[in-house]
Amino acid sequence: MFRRIRFHHPLTALLVRRAETLPATRQVSELRKQIPTLYGLLCVNSWTLAATHLRVAPALLTLVFPVLVVFICFARAATWWRIRPETLTEAQAIRQLNVTTTLTAILSAVFVGWAVALRDYGGPYEQYHVAIFISVTIIACTFCLTHLPAAAYISTGTVLAVFLVCCLLSGNEVFLAVAVDTAFVTAVMVRILTSNYRDFVELVASKAEASRLSDENARLAHTDSLTGLPNRRYFFQHLEDLTRTCAAEDGRFALAIFDLDQFKPINDTYGHTAGDRVLAETGRRLAAFAGPGVTLARLGGDEFGVLIRDPAAPATVIAFCDGICAALQEPIRLAEIRVVAGCSCGLAKFPSAGREAAALFDRADYALYHSKLHRRGRTTLFSQVHEDAIRAERAVETALRTADLPAEMRMHYQPILDTETGAITLVEALARWTSPVLGQVPPDRFVAAAERSGMIHAVTLLLLRKALADAARLPHRVGLSFNLSAHDLAAPETVDAIIAAVRESRLDPRRLTLELTETALMRDFEQAKTAIVALRALGIKIALDDFGTGYSSLGYVHRLPLDKIKIDRSFMAAADTEVGGSVIATILSLCRNLGLDGIAEGIETEDQREAARRHGCRYIQGYLVGRPMPIGDLLARLAEDESGGEPLRLSA
Ligand code: C2E
Ligand code: CA
Ligand code: CA
Repeated sequence: MFRRIRFHHPLTALLVRRAETLPATRQVSELRKQIPTLYGLLCVNSWTLAATHLRVAPALLTLVFPVLVVFICFARAATWWRIRPETLTEAQAIRQLNVTTTLTAILSAVFVGWAVALRDYGGPYEQYHVAIFISVTIIACTFCLTHLPAAAYISTGTVLAVFLVCCLLSGNEVFLAVAVDTAFVTAVMVRILTSNYRDFVELVASKAEASRLSDENARLAHTDSLTGLPNRRYFFQHLEDLTRTCAAEDGRFALAIFDLDQFKPINDTYGHTAGDRVLAETGRRLAAFAGPGVTLARLGGDEFGVLIRDPAAPATVIAFCDGICAALQEPIRLAEIRVVAGCSCGLAKFPSAGREAAALFDRADYALYHSKLHRRGRTTLFSQVHEDAIRAERAVETALRTADLPAEMRMHYQPILDTETGAITLVEALARWTSPVLGQVPPDRFVAAAERSGMIHAVTLLLLRKALADAARLPHRVGLSFNLSAHDLAAPETVDAIIAAVRESRLDPRRLTLELTETALMRDFEQAKTAIVALRALGIKIALDDFGTGYSSLGYVHRLPLDKIKIDRSFMAAADTEVGGSVIATILSLCRNLGLDGIAEGIETEDQREAARRHGCRYIQGYLVGRPMPIGDLLARLAEDESGGEPLRLSA
């Protein structure tokens, strides 16, 4: 409860319990409504009393004094009118209250003195009027000074005391009766006043408490409990506000989204408590970048948002965001271990990248996606190039939606060579789409478009059925390797449909390999694991594709039942360099330890083939072995290899 202890007027401290005081500014604001009325009332009362005594009392009392009273009352009323309580400090308000209390004491004495002075003039009616004047004045003061109890008590006490003494001394029974009546009425009124004042103080205090609680609730509703940063709700409200004000004022701001690069592997490997500590530390590091015009928030998961009002030149904003990325590149200590979370950033500027909050956020998110793919640990500013790319992606999505997929899509097959036997033991199915609108569309582009537009389930199954049908024409010694999208494993219904399609095809499931990327595993590790277990139970083999390009957490490889690892072609291209060579050696020794087959992708030259051999890689794939080709060409090639007795014939 609201319990401020303050000493106003010394008398207030004496008469009102400290805990029952109001903020002085609030008292002033309440009194301002009553005091001018009180002065008006005093003027009218004084003038009527003066009027009834005009002929019987000296002019000093009936003319000079009332004129003076009017003057003083107007001056005081004007002072109160001019007060603006909302502009007063607490100290100024206390001073104002003290002046009022002191003046009330003086004025009460003056008024009652004047009234008593008039008592000696005129007949019983005039004297009776004096008594009425005093009683009424007491009542008026008590009510009008409710919010300044000290002043009310002083004025009531002074006037009543004088009145009682005078009445007693007069020996007149009627006056005595009036005095006793007035004293009782006053006592009752003072009680009511005190209780009203207490109720009022409590009401004000409970309102203050309610408003404090609602402020606290609002603050909590806008704060992320883990990091203490503003949360998503706050971020988007602020983003909407900024968009509106900047649109109206022709202002500028930048929106940056940060996403931790290694959060998932850390969380999966070391547990949620470690994950929470990484997020809390990230929040702490980010908070160091807050400043005027810079708002930071946790958007959810390992994603953080920053709004920068009136950003400087693009290079400066990018440098600012790169600074945040660099801060997160510093290791984070978790008990005995140290981890590096790292982060990438996407940046979009208002209004060039978008004039609406949602559009701007999407652009920043697109730039972030670009950073994740091509500029990990750095900032990408959304630009016209990205805008064009988005347009092109939309065109692919549109064409895909209206396509006759079974007619327009075909499969090509790329041979994978077993260097030990010199035979092609596996072929990888690679999808080809010739759109009547767009022409040839590369598979990674239309697969991504199908993922975005929710068509991937249909596309995967269509391609798988085509590949399975073609596989029926392959010699039994040759297996089929088929690529799955990152979305496929995450959807149990797709996994069920894949199993059903394999069963229907009558292909021996042991001849089928499904290629997954690390991204597929990252989407939902547990679901991916469940799916892999189900697929392997049928005899289907699982290959981890493009190994080394994704999150490359060795933890995944250990914790998943895999059969093969495909070493990404970027490593094979760098096989002669020291780093490339040692990465290949490491991956292959991992394969040997875990009993997995290693397949080197993208073997284009004899040197690369030799490097693969040197590192002990048994399976190779690439243009040197054969380009992706239609099933007819592949069958001819396989037949030629078999009959020609020259199984190692390599095509460049
Ligand atoms: P990927 O699974 O890594 O497939 C290998 C890609 O490398 C193929 O590109 C292939 O043509 C190319 N390639 C093979 N040997 C060499 C080489 O020696 N040098 C170079 N520079 N490239 C080589 P493609 O066919 O354009 O496929 C690109 C990606 O599209 C694939 O990468 C795969 O991720 C995806 N993809 C292809 N077909 C399918 C499919 O049926 N389903 C799904 N979900 N994704 C597919
Ligand atoms: Ca592949
Ligand atoms: Ca690959």
